[in-house]
Amino acid sequence: MARKGTHPVSTMTKPAARSVREGPNEFETAQRQFDRAAEILNLDPNIRCILRTPQRILEVHFPVHMDDGSIRVFTGFRVQHNLHRGPTKGGIRYHPDVTLDEVKALAMWMTWKFAIIGLPFGGAKGGVVVEPERLSQTELEHLTRRFTTEISIIIGPERDIPAPDVNTSGQTMAWMMDTYSMHTGFSVPAVVTGKPLSIGGSEGRLEATGRGVMIVTIDALQRLGIPPTETTVAVQGFGNVGSHTARLLHQEGCRIVAVSDVHGGIYNPKGLPVPELLRYVQEHGTVLGFPQTESVTNMELLELPVTVLVPAALGNQITAENADRIRARVVSEGANGPTTPEADAIMHENGVFLIPDILANAGGVTVSYFEWVQDLQQFFWTENEIDQKLAHIMRKSFAKTYATMENRGVDMRMAAYIEAVSNVAAATDARSIYP
Ligand code: GLU
Repeated sequence: MARKGTHPVSTMTKPAARSVREGPNEFETAQRQFDRAAEILNLDPNIRCILRTPQRILEVHFPVHMDDGSIRVFTGFRVQHNLHRGPTKGGIRYHPDVTLDEVKALAMWMTWKFAIIGLPFGGAKGGVVVEPERLSQTELEHLTRRFTTEISIIIGPERDIPAPDVNTSGQTMAWMMDTYSMHTGFSVPAVVTGKPLSIGGSEGRLEATGRGVMIVTIDALQRLGIPPTETTVAVQGFGNVGSHTARLLHQEGCRIVAVSDVHGGIYNPKGLPVPELLRYVQEHGTVLGFPQTESVTNMELLELPVTVLVPAALGNQITAENADRIRARVVSEGANGPTTPEADAIMHENGVFLIPDILANAGGVTVSYFEWVQDLQQFFWTENEIDQKLAHIMRKSFAKTYATMENRGVDMRMAAYIEAVSNVAAATDARSIYP
């Protein structure tokens, strides 16, 4: 199995560049949020038990040929939280700190995300414990193709449909689609979404999550009576979600005053010229060093005096420790799970209007759904059609959640949960228990 030579099989990962993220266990957070909603809904205890745990978990350990001829064994997960409303769906992340509990939480959040938006999927998520920046393109391709093969026993266009997430991209999806298609003997574009346009990707998918964040943020500002032109914004994370959110909010007239990436952040209270910043990042690979800005850390950025804060990086960023110092009027969760339940309570008390992840960042999965439908029909829509359908769904979901918030006297996260959990519970109840 090893290539020529006597290179040892190594199960050790190279030392992580960043330390393991601290903070509460994400799965416990997800369960606590669910329990609160179940309590408010007075949910049947049997249905509660069913929805509280993921239906399927696959853990894989798989070898990959490295460029130096050695073999390394990587660990990956695919979790399918709920299969009652249709096939499962959700992204795949590559990160050195990925844990099974994190993937379980993310899969559960996907279930609620689909249910609040009204799309016919259950939640899933995948992850590989890897530092992608330490791998060459060839190594990443080998890893992706082998991981796809390992999880191919549970994915498929009618079963479970992966998509990009943290540190994965259209290229990752192209390798996954090709690997799956090689196994079946014909092209199966609908097995993944977030693909390049040339192999059945959708117009508007790349910016869809950011576009969705922009739409609900503008809706929230409108409800609060704050014009976009009087709005300042800080965005934590300048990847696919953060950069498009910043660009589109800037286009709406908001002043983007701070952005950050894994290396740190930049701040200028007068506002950043976002188109120039995007060009700078393309050239330099980081926001750091952009002219006429002062540096801030990722944590300092969260506490800046701004109208809107968009956490669009990783989970567990706003916790009991810093929630009291958040000065934003609106928090729009571009990332999944950036806020802990304790922080939710503190910010609610302080009058912060929070748009929860399962609503705020649902634009990505919405256009993923459009991509899947287009692939299955082999009939493709224009960018304009996509943007209009996306805007309609995001606005409708925001309005529905806002109404529930007012009717039930809860915060926006609980309102979204109440809507989502009751939809999934109705499906579970209707299908009943087999056998
Ligand atoms: N990873 C994205 C999310 O968390 C997109 C998943 C998808 O498109 O299926 O929503």
